[in-house]
Amino acid sequence: MSTQGILEKIVDEVESEEDELVDLCSKLVQIPTVSPPGESREIAKFIESYFGSLGIATHIYEKVEGKSNVCVELPGKREGKIIWLGHLDTVPPGDPSSWKHDPYGGEVVNGRIYGRGSSDTKGAVAAAMIAAKALSRLPRDERCSVEFWFTTCEEIGAREGARWLAEEGFFKGDICIVGDSEGFLPRDPVIDVGCKGILRVKLKAKGLAAHGSVPFLGENAVEKLIEVWRYARRISEFKLDVPKALEPIFESSINLFERRMKLNKSQEASLRRLYHFPTVSLNIIRGGIKANVVPDYAEAHLDIRVTPGTDMNSVKDRMINLVKESKVDGVEAEIYSLREGIYEDPKSPYVKSLSEAVRRVTGFSPTLRILTGGTDGVHVKQISKIPCLGLAPGVHGTAHTVDEYVTIENLTAVAKIYAVYPLLFKP
Ligand SMILES: [Zn+2]
Repeated sequence: MSTQGILEKIVDEVESEEDELVDLCSKLVQIPTVSPPGESREIAKFIESYFGSLGIATHIYEKVEGKSNVCVELPGKREGKIIWLGHLDTVPPGDPSSWKHDPYGGEVVNGRIYGRGSSDTKGAVAAAMIAAKALSRLPRDERCSVEFWFTTCEEIGAREGARWLAEEGFFKGDICIVGDSEGFLPRDPVIDVGCKGILRVKLKAKGLAAHGSVPFLGENAVEKLIEVWRYARRISEFKLDVPKALEPIFESSINLFERRMKLNKSQEASLRRLYHFPTVSLNIIRGGIKANVVPDYAEAHLDIRVTPGTDMNSVKDRMINLVKESKVDGVEAEIYSLREGIYEDPKSPYVKSLSEAVRRVTGFSPTLRILTGGTDGVHVKQISKIPCLGLAPGVHGTAHTVDEYVTIENLTAVAKIYAVYPLLFKP
């Protein structure tokens, strides 16, 4: 059969499984897998029995009992091996009464499947399962090898999930497709060619307690923090030395935002700086014990995101200097996490073949983007040294929100792309 013929065959195959795809997504949502703790044995067993009924073996790996990671291997005869990676765990639903749809109902309404994890990333898992089923029915010499990995604890650092699997040497392949992304399918597809790095800083202010009626006898730690924050926030004015090759990707990533979101003038200005300067967000502030006591301790947590390919240490050094420049006594900056971002060469052959798969399925050319957030791809890239690209059915702006949903249209499009890629991929 011609390549075109095989591609059409597998696309039709996935198309004919749409009802099962919806059902799978709905069932996956119905099995709670909240992180923490990231317990995932029940959902792993569900995946195991699904593939078991197709005569396909699965392997379950656990660093900690009950926190299961699942691997499904599909050996192919064509050269190359693709790793597919998606996570099974979700963030908590929050107050269920604020949801219109049951967070664990997996309700299907008007072309949408609702529930916690539907967009992030159980929809992608369902799409991968259907793609695996369709691929398994093709003769082996038509496809390269694919290994599907369904992992846990992504939402809490992946120490029992992808990061541990990478450290243990489980991931071996030529390319990793990360099913953790969101975008504007099916008419405005996106491929993530990288994601930003993360720097987390704790500002710790020490003061002197006193009675609230005689504040001049104490030293107010909260006020110290406020003063230091005025300096620390200037980290967002620190110009980054970005890789030249990524400039077109910054532009296309920014254009995507502009095309798809209604922004005011100030948001627009921030967006224009998104990749050439770090962003900083003051996300936690703690201090004080009682309304009539001058606080002797306060702390603030800053979330700083840095473009991949830039020098994170220079950002860290600048941060420490900014705190010094404030000249506030008794305040210290503790860097408690530093993780570099990742990126792939947008001109690489695997970006080209994935773009081709997207075009064949959707009829549209994908926008290449650098994600502002992070994914498990970071561990696969940095520890297993496998290039990573992101592509998934997630609906923009729905991850971690109330009434999270994914569309059937997105699921079907992505399942087709996952199924087509192993036929086009060349290492
Ligand atoms: Zn998430």
